[in-house]
Amino acid sequence: MSLSIKNVSQIYDTAVAVDDISVEIQDGEFIAILGPSGCGKTTLLRIIAGFIQATKGEVLSGDEVFTRDHHHLPVNERDLAMVFQSFALWPHMTVREHIEYPLQSKRHSHLSAAEKTAMVDEAIRSTGLELLQKRLPGELSGGQKQRVSLARAIVSKPKLLLMDEPLSALDAELKISMRKEIKDIHTMTKSTIIYVTHDQSEALSMADRIIIMKDGKIEQMGTPKEIYEHPQTIFAATFVSKCNLVHGVFEGNTFTAYDGKTQYDATNLPVCFNEAGVYPVRPEDFVATGEAMGIAGIIANKQYNGREIHYKVDCNGDFFTIYGDVTKDFQIGQTIYLKKSDAA
Ligand code: ADP
Ligand code: MG
Repeated sequence: MSLSIKNVSQIYDTAVAVDDISVEIQDGEFIAILGPSGCGKTTLLRIIAGFIQATKGEVLSGDEVFTRDHHHLPVNERDLAMVFQSFALWPHMTVREHIEYPLQSKRHSHLSAAEKTAMVDEAIRSTGLELLQKRLPGELSGGQKQRVSLARAIVSKPKLLLMDEPLSALDAELKISMRKEIKDIHTMTKSTIIYVTHDQSEALSMADRIIIMKDGKIEQMGTPKEIYEHPQTIFAATFVSKCNLVHGVFEGNTFTAYDGKTQYDATNLPVCFNEAGVYPVRPEDFVATGEAMGIAGIIANKQYNGREIHYKVDCNGDFFTIYGDVTKDFQIGQTIYLKKSDAA
């Protein structure tokens, strides 16, 4: 279902957790809300779910009013489900009982017992839990627990799925495979998904559209490609694209780096970079060479990574990250030069 969030704020005595956020979400979209800890992601999600009544603003689902003025539709009357970071399973309930639970609500009283059984079976099958149905949460691994919370969320086929950092408690390998499972669930259910994360690679790899939040506000909104290739703010450039910020001066469309020699074309660069006197260069756009071309720096740190070597390079006190070719192995302490790959 589509969702309209209009001028939503959440003001606490000590903090403005959500600061005048407006966004239109299309039916079936996979939206990632990406931002650092404390920027208001969970608060916004809980307002959409109905756990919190926003201080100001409106939330509409299609024509249905979730929140407006003093009207507040209770959580259990909203056609949505939420997946929590902590899994939130009950220790005394089996896997199957967890998944049956949402269908016991009044909203599903029109369904027959046979229909409910079929829906539970389908949720169990699509999350690969067939062999674990009788187990208790204490007998499950972290990944299996997260699958149970996913199955419980999708069993009633909600139009809107809200997920709050659902993979953050899992180990790195499991995270990657669960990303794919969540994408598969999206393809299968066609639900609208709002997925909260502080992990830029999760947002880039999963979402149709990313909303970057900072200090309760929307910093930038766009497709993963737009956000990665064209960050519009310094925060988006460093948080999502992991850009290195080269200090220097802008004159017209030309940027001259702090060394007074290296120049880059600044056509189409958002004005915020100009104002801050920095030019953003992503790690993969710097090529390290032994020849005196580009910004000079000293290798401060290196990490072999199989396909490439990640270097931290001290350039006049700024530490830049670059990804180097494994065939050119630079040593810590060595002076190298960073050439921007598309620079003339
Ligand atoms: P995130 O999920 O992005 O980490 P939160 O939405 O949990 O951020 O919190 C946003 C801000 O609001 C934080 O500064 C947090 O301390 C504050 N906050 C959240 N809930 C409350 C509350 N119930 N009372 C007061 N401040 C809160
Ligand atoms: Mg949170």
